[in-house]
Amino acid sequence: MHNDTIVALATPSGSGAIAIIRLSGKDAIAIASSVFKSVSGKTLQNQKTHTIHLGHIVDGNKTLDEILVSVFKNPNSYTGEDVIEVSCHGSLYIQQEIIQLFLRKGCRMAAAGEFTLRAFLNGKLDLSQAEAVADLISSDNEAAHQIAMQQMRGGFSSEIARLREELLNFASLIELELDFAEEDVEFADRTQFKELIERITFVLKRLIDSFAVGNVIKNGIPVAIVGEPNVGKSTLLNALLNEERAIVSEIAGTTRDTIEDEISIGGFGFRFIDTAGIRETKDVVESIGIKKTFEKIEQSQVTIYLFDASKTIDSLEEVRIEIEKIRNKYPQKPLLVIANKIDRLDDTQLAKINTTIADVLLLSAKTGFGVEQLTNSLLNLINTGALRNNETIVTNTRHYDALLKAFEEIQKVKHGLDTDLSGDLLAIDIRQALYHFGEITGEITNDDLLGNIFANFCIGK
Ligand code: GDP
Repeated sequence: MHNDTIVALATPSGSGAIAIIRLSGKDAIAIASSVFKSVSGKTLQNQKTHTIHLGHIVDGNKTLDEILVSVFKNPNSYTGEDVIEVSCHGSLYIQQEIIQLFLRKGCRMAAAGEFTLRAFLNGKLDLSQAEAVADLISSDNEAAHQIAMQQMRGGFSSEIARLREELLNFASLIELELDFAEEDVEFADRTQFKELIERITFVLKRLIDSFAVGNVIKNGIPVAIVGEPNVGKSTLLNALLNEERAIVSEIAGTTRDTIEDEISIGGFGFRFIDTAGIRETKDVVESIGIKKTFEKIEQSQVTIYLFDASKTIDSLEEVRIEIEKIRNKYPQKPLLVIANKIDRLDDTQLAKINTTIADVLLLSAKTGFGVEQLTNSLLNLINTGALRNNETIVTNTRHYDALLKAFEEIQKVKHGLDTDLSGDLLAIDIRQALYHFGEITGEITNDDLLGNIFANFCIGK
């Protein structure tokens, strides 16, 4: 239990209908009690945990606000300590006055993430669950939300903790063998141990592989939209966005620099990067734009090549060659080819596009024709299987690194078992693997690590 009591605003700063101020620590209830006059005349200290009380907050003989106070007594609170939540009216002035009052009464201003840090230190949640709290707060699409929720409920760390437990068991048995080295006994059944290592390898591999999906879900899937000026890139983005956010302009070459827009499609965040085309040019600014286009394709997971079908109907061969250029340069990268402005074309012309350009999607950003097919194609490109099957997905780079290291160590253990490595050397590799497992769940931490993790939280969480 910490000695000091911390206070912070838990709701966003600014004015709103109500604001919530939180206190956590051993004096939380006493401090709140000293400035609270309940309507019923009861004192807060005598109230049961998980109860709410109406009253006034007073500073000397000045009444600051009419408030609701929620009481959570340790250990049954978010932090595991005594927690008070004051719901006051959301004026900036009131919020500040109440916080100042609590500070004068002996609270200390909470650091970023300090409530969750205390929850972690008091064993209310493990480290990966604590990290999921931050992910949950920042999740802005369905997929990111689902993963954060799952991680917060402990789905991922409980699996790791279980395996760690089993591994620890074997480590102890092997270390015990070392104590009886002269007698040449085997406490740890090698066949069972091999079976466990196989299981761990399988789980680790699945979790490591899931990071590719997890990462795109958390950060959005980058999509480069490539096309000459005026082919309708911004209009297409707007059609996808359903609101006029990107700049639409008649002047050729206005999208010289890149614009990024994140759009949620089917619950996934897609980051569209609007780039200049790749046509030959003598204009210096334009050729910088073209260099950028290639850079953006490289950074993206998917490329959309957009061309103006009405303008190029007599020069489709050139378009085809340009598409080939991109395909040849990035053979591994999914490329969606879109013929835009088809509202200006007749059936014969549409047929001509279909026969000249392979796998082309006919679209009109203006009328919206083909936009749904585009969003379906985009969704088909990402592997959403793991998410649909509710499998655990790793989104956190720190976890990913620890999993990779654990995997490496487990491979060493496996090799050791296969080659009848001596128990003392085997034990070293197992301990290393255990260490990396522990890094994920927080059995093994240090102040720097905790500092880094919780510094990224908001104050008040
Ligand atoms: P960008 O330079 O590639 O971003 O192109 P814009 O989105 O600014 O579009 C250039 C012009 O083409 C604008 O006047 C748009 O209204 C027009 N435009 C875009 N898409 C379509 C379409 O599908 N059909 C028609 N007829 N015009 C379009």
